[in-house]
Amino acid sequence: MTKRKICLFDTTLRDGMQGIEVSFSLSDKIQIAHKLDEMGIDFIEGGFPLSNEKEAAFFAQAKKEKFRHAEIASFGSSRKPGRKAREDSHIRALLEAGTSTVVVVGKTWKAHVEKVLRTTHEENLEMIFDSLSFLKSEGRKVIFDLEHFFDGWKDDPAYALEVLKTGTQAGADWVVLCDTNGGTLPMEVDRIIRSLPAEDLAPLGVHFHDDTGNGVANSIIALEAGAGQVQGTINGWGERCGNANLCVIIPNIALKLGYDTSANGNIKKLTSLSRFVSEKANIIPDKRQPYVGEAAFSHKAGQHVDVLAKADYLMEHIDSRLVGNERRILLSELAGKSTIVDKLSRYGNFDKSSEIVETLFKSLKEKEVAGYEYEAAEASFDLLIRKCLKLYKPLAELGNYHLESYKTWVSPSKNVGRLFMRLNGKEVLGAAVGIGPVETLDAALRDALLPFYPFIKAITLTDYKVRVLNPEAAGSASKVRVFISFSDRLGNSWDTVGVSEDIVEASWDALMDSLEYYYNTFVEPQ
Ligand SMILES: [Zn+2]
Repeated sequence: MTKRKICLFDTTLRDGMQGIEVSFSLSDKIQIAHKLDEMGIDFIEGGFPLSNEKEAAFFAQAKKEKFRHAEIASFGSSRKPGRKAREDSHIRALLEAGTSTVVVVGKTWKAHVEKVLRTTHEENLEMIFDSLSFLKSEGRKVIFDLEHFFDGWKDDPAYALEVLKTGTQAGADWVVLCDTNGGTLPMEVDRIIRSLPAEDLAPLGVHFHDDTGNGVANSIIALEAGAGQVQGTINGWGERCGNANLCVIIPNIALKLGYDTSANGNIKKLTSLSRFVSEKANIIPDKRQPYVGEAAFSHKAGQHVDVLAKADYLMEHIDSRLVGNERRILLSELAGKSTIVDKLSRYGNFDKSSEIVETLFKSLKEKEVAGYEYEAAEASFDLLIRKCLKLYKPLAELGNYHLESYKTWVSPSKNVGRLFMRLNGKEVLGAAVGIGPVETLDAALRDALLPFYPFIKAITLTDYKVRVLNPEAAGSASKVRVFISFSDRLGNSWDTVGVSEDIVEASWDALMDSLEYYYNTFVEPQ
């Protein structure tokens, strides 16, 4: 049975942008807003129109865009002390943003009123009442964020309640209890929300931060205690430790607790949404993120894989496909043949004793002994499978490459790279100058192949890692393992591996695997 409806409020484009390393261009923000709309998010907080031109530009552009379901909201604070709301620059900026919904933040904790606003408790209430009622009179839907609500309540519950009632009387459509410092624990949230008088308050929303690691738990317990709106961000990004993670809250409340939300029909899009937002911010997706992380449904030990083949639910808390994720069987020394059967399943049904499984098993073991590791390089393993199944189309063949490093007493080091590739019986030449050897090789390879394969332009190298495999064999004889990550503009990402005693050769192998994987999987799939 489905329980009551919960309103979903996303603040990735406002609070999420306060997070470390998170930055979006205007076009990123518009694209993310559309993805959130497709997901079924009810409110999308677009930013703080007064803070800078980029934020104001978002609202100007958002007005021209069509959103199917979501309402775009602008964010700002209540008016300054001693002014009228209609004359206040924050309130005017909210109106000028032209959104149907506005979010107004006001102080709830007396100490903040005294030390930050430097005004009286009564004037703070008037500032809130005046700001909200003015925006209501201008025809806006108003969401009132009670900043530091939980800390304010712990300090003086009567004043915090007064602020809540003021917001309600001013006509707020939602009053949102914010745990701005993120220090509140779930049992406190439960106790405080249950002690609120249900009858004389506008519908309650909640906004949690993850400073105690309880952002999601606090949100869920608040909904169970009666709140009807939950605020959060995609991937849990936000100031300090982040905001409550909507990628975890949504499946928890929809799949486990049976609440109704406008995203319930789209939960399969969640993994792709999470990765899309990561790619836009150019942040490597967190593999360990619940539900949507790459590791969320990964299995390593061969025995687990055997059990999975018998019944999924014995080893997984939900079916990975419900959130658009997929089960991954990690390739490791522990892996048995059932792992390989599973990896092969996207190409057809193969028996454990089939020749192809035997061949792959043998080649995997040989590669592992040579230093390869495919757990974090599934794209390279996929190419091995394609080669075995004769489903592999080569991109081009290496004739030779030549790389030269130079440094002078006045200039920093540089690399010059040249290479010959053979393509359809012809020789093609590429050349580049770069700083690092891998960057130079990548650029020379692109120079040679781009005229024949325009897709190369749309993919970028996002991460590069090197590990020395046998550091005890000091000097030039030690082997290195290189991992390279690539991604495209659609949010696909893939990883490859190369191993050699020469770091450039190891990198070359991983680079070629990356391009060939993309070519075989997305450009010319068979
Ligand atoms: Zn916040």
